[in-house]
Amino acid sequence: MFAEVVVDVSTNSLDKIFDYECPKNIEILLGQRVLVPFGRQTIEGYVLNLKETTELQPNQVKQIIKPLDDFSLILPEMFDVIRELKQEYKLRIIDILHLIVPSQIRNGKVKQQVVKNCFLTEYGLENLDQIKSNAKNQIQACAYLRTIPNCDFTKLATKFGNQTINTLISKGYIAFNETKSFRAPMQDISPEIEADLTLTDLQQKAVDTILSKQNLFNLLFGVTGSGKTEVYMQVIREALKNNQTAIMLVPEISLTPKTVKQFRSRFGDLVAVLHSGLSDGEKFDEWFRLYNGTAKIAVGARSAIFAPLKNLGAIIIDEEHDGSYQSESNPRYETITVAKARAKYNDCPLVLGSATPTIETFYNAQMGNYNLITLDKRINKMPLPKMDIVDMCQEFRSGNTSIFSGQLLNEMSKAVNNNEQIMLFLNRRGFSSYQMCRECGYVAKCTDCDVSLVYHKEDNLLKCHYCGKKFKPLTKCPSCGKTTIKLGNTGTEKIEEELQNLFPQTKVFRMDNDTTTTKSSHAKILSEFEKTKPAILVGTQMIAKGHDFPMVTLVGLLDADLSLFYCDFKANEKTYQLVTQVAGRAGRAEKEGKVVLQTFFPKHYVYNFCTNYDYLRFYNKEINLRQTAQFPPFSKIIRVLVTAEEDDPAKLLTHELFLKFKDLRVKYPNDFIFLEAMRSPHAKIKRKYRYQVLMRVSENNEKLIEEIFEISNVINNKATVFVEVNPQNLS
Ligand code: ADP
Ligand code: ZN
Repeated sequence: MFAEVVVDVSTNSLDKIFDYECPKNIEILLGQRVLVPFGRQTIEGYVLNLKETTELQPNQVKQIIKPLDDFSLILPEMFDVIRELKQEYKLRIIDILHLIVPSQIRNGKVKQQVVKNCFLTEYGLENLDQIKSNAKNQIQACAYLRTIPNCDFTKLATKFGNQTINTLISKGYIAFNETKSFRAPMQDISPEIEADLTLTDLQQKAVDTILSKQNLFNLLFGVTGSGKTEVYMQVIREALKNNQTAIMLVPEISLTPKTVKQFRSRFGDLVAVLHSGLSDGEKFDEWFRLYNGTAKIAVGARSAIFAPLKNLGAIIIDEEHDGSYQSESNPRYETITVAKARAKYNDCPLVLGSATPTIETFYNAQMGNYNLITLDKRINKMPLPKMDIVDMCQEFRSGNTSIFSGQLLNEMSKAVNNNEQIMLFLNRRGFSSYQMCRECGYVAKCTDCDVSLVYHKEDNLLKCHYCGKKFKPLTKCPSCGKTTIKLGNTGTEKIEEELQNLFPQTKVFRMDNDTTTTKSSHAKILSEFEKTKPAILVGTQMIAKGHDFPMVTLVGLLDADLSLFYCDFKANEKTYQLVTQVAGRAGRAEKEGKVVLQTFFPKHYVYNFCTNYDYLRFYNKEINLRQTAQFPPFSKIIRVLVTAEEDDPAKLLTHELFLKFKDLRVKYPNDFIFLEAMRSPHAKIKRKYRYQVLMRVSENNEKLIEEIFEISNVINNKATVFVEVNPQNLS
């Protein structure tokens, strides 16, 4: 028997399959992790295929040394996933395997937690007086165990020393029972099981359509509060009834204890949660519970799409438009590609849910690639909150230079007086966005990244939001020497302070990356806010999603324009999504909600469509623009990003690549819409200089894309090249 093995070394030159002979006496499994000889070393690898023969000469074939686990880590369907990801994103096989098999499983360091319950043996009890009187720790440990009969080894060892306990064990004074335990994250919120709700007719129709599998791929297009989650849960319920499993994905940001609780309270311990906040041990346990079938539903962010579940009956991607479903660092991939491969393999429905689908997804639905299911009413029949646009230029002209318009202040006072809750949204954290010199216009920038630093009042520091580097704030201008330093735009921290002055009696909460650095702070702020009335929650886009606070009646968008002017063809789409999501936080229960949207561009068509919740008209306008200008989905945007420690090598390599792409354009004259090389908008990030070649090419010429990847596959010891197809951002 021979095995095709890929070795665990992440380089292009080793991204291939090697044949090894299987040892005679041990069975080797497909997908198993194995130890193999490689050159003069031994390294880990994965078995991707088993076969009877090899092309290699008998003296060339080496033998697998041994398997590293007694089971296979790669489910059969994952071979389809590997193929798709390889084909679509030209990833190295080993990088794909690293996605499929998380590092906690791979390195075998974390095992199921073994608890050793120690107790005094009969021999120990009878011979206590034999312990030498100077062995104080041993005597104390035994005395302790007499009062607390079953004590965890780790606890004993911390109290009396590892050595002491081990000596007592070897002398036969102490013995222990071993039990294996699973850590269950957020177990404290594991609630009682609740019954499924009775679906509305519309919801029932949605569930039926999804289960009918007319088309495996579905877009559940439902306004905020239309009960999409209940649809997901009942689709999952059907899967469980058929003895199948399910994957439920939510954006990282909305993977709150609340979401988890919702699923736990429906499906109990069948739910395993996968997210980046878990400790290695917790991740290992949850992965294993899914692998061995103890858990049947994986709830998690992007990476949970690789959950080791067999026999899938449903895959759900909630808020499918969310940017976090696209991996932006190596290996770069889109969740949907994996989801489709797994859905096809299992012949199970895939549901994409959103109130504001991406233009691309909706286009797919219009083209018949996805089944379009619409939920256009809120469950409680409440109207969507009314949105008022406030022209901030007008405010400014009439002498109001504060960040709060007269109207917003007014509405806030009303809500506070009515003992209600308010959410204020600003997509900018920190006290103010930058420090600048009023005299010469100097702006404080990070020394490692080409971005301005953000002032944080709490710790009186300037921070780089790209690399986290911290600097002392300016007292005088390093450029002109004057002391005319002022703060630029207002951030969440400053708003919090101003609110406290305006409403001294009202509790103000703030939620952004700075207040949510620890694992539980996110949950804590939200649950505190929920309990407090009246209260104001100020936050970045973190508060835009997934929270259901019935008492929130007013939502304010302090500066809606912030996402409108990204140098990106998706700016309109992102603004539409953001405004709609934020607005959806208001009026989710009996009380009607209100939204105040502050903008300097009140006539922009995006605002016109979002205030009317008219996604369809927005979509029609946008898809026409995209078609005319040939942007995705009518083309593919390709960015070849070159980074290097020094400026010149990056520039040089970019130029070389650019010339080759120009030749390619001669070869495929009809497929190039745009080709340009440039410094990246953020010319330096984390000490690396950045250049890029941007291309827009026909959407269906696979051969051309292949060649772009081939050209970009250069080995250069000074610069690194990344190819991205339809990247999330081009900065
Ligand atoms: P969406 O995910 O579409 O924004 P949710 O799933 O949050 O909407 O639903 C909004 C509210 O309606 C939730 O409080 C949910 O419990 C409730 N709900 C959903 N379906 C039903 C139903 N069939 N009967 C009663 N209440 C429902
Ligand atoms: Zn920096």
